[in-house]
Amino acid sequence: MARKAGIVVRFRGVRGSHPVPGPRTVRYGGNTSCVEVQAGGHRILLDAGTGIISLGDELFQAQAAPQGETAVAESIVLTILFSHTHYDHTQGLPFFKPIFLPSTTCFLFGPKTLELPFEEGLRRAMVSPYFPVNLEDLQSVRVLRSVKPSEVIVFQEGSMYPEVYNATRERHLYQNAPLKVWVGHSLGHPDGGVYMYRIEYRNAAVVYVTDTEGYVGGDRRVIQFARGADVLIHDSQYMPEDYTASVYPVQGFGHSTCEMAAEVARAAGVQRLYLFHYDPQYSDEQIDAMVERARSIFPNTTGAYEGLTVEL
Ligand SMILES: [Zn+2]
Ligand SMILES: [Zn+2]
Repeated sequence: MARKAGIVVRFRGVRGSHPVPGPRTVRYGGNTSCVEVQAGGHRILLDAGTGIISLGDELFQAQAAPQGETAVAESIVLTILFSHTHYDHTQGLPFFKPIFLPSTTCFLFGPKTLELPFEEGLRRAMVSPYFPVNLEDLQSVRVLRSVKPSEVIVFQEGSMYPEVYNATRERHLYQNAPLKVWVGHSLGHPDGGVYMYRIEYRNAAVVYVTDTEGYVGGDRRVIQFARGADVLIHDSQYMPEDYTASVYPVQGFGHSTCEMAAEVARAAGVQRLYLFHYDPQYSDEQIDAMVERARSIFPNTTGAYEGLTVEL
């Protein structure tokens, strides 16, 4: 058996649009998008929906726990990559406790939306009178900036902090780094599309593609970006029948069906597909049905649920 690469993926929130607590969503969970990826001692979070809040509580408690005589509380260092700044991907951030600790170091990256820089887009998610604390007041935020698909986010050997390089011109500066994150741009979502991220560590790759709508024959841009990945996390908001329903049509909303996700997984030749970003209307049983449907196209499909941990 091949040696493990040493990547741990944990789904913290798998729902799209808005949180849905209640008995219908117990198994898959009702929190909005957040995926935690750990590799090489680094912690990378993909989006900051309400799923990020429970991680914050865990990290905060670990910090506050009484230490043994020789133990020293480790400072928290993390990088949050935003696909875009729609609420369901940012609404957990103001409630993510470690971000308020001066001992935490946070690096936040994301796309420009239309002409709005990422910094400004995120700032508007935390502003008076809608929230009592402004983004500028958070002492933990070290870097807050837009990245471009022509750039790569890199963790160099021995460094805890990410650096951003031009993917082609500066290749010689980062090509031997153990952990790299490639930035992709999908156009299948309102307001200029979303970012996709491809995290590569040692011999493994995890690809995150949320909030994107499929095209006929599969979105070639997404397929190329996900090519050969070990794990593909893909938007699966709708059952095909609901996508084409005549009463409440959702075509053009910028989301995929479970079949679109499976077609991308098959065309990209990935190892495993995790369905993600489910419509808040769907019960656990309806998501089970989506998973079955996707498996008829791509057998190695799992419906991501809150707390699911995948080790590579
Ligand atoms: Zn979303
Ligand atoms: Zn969105």
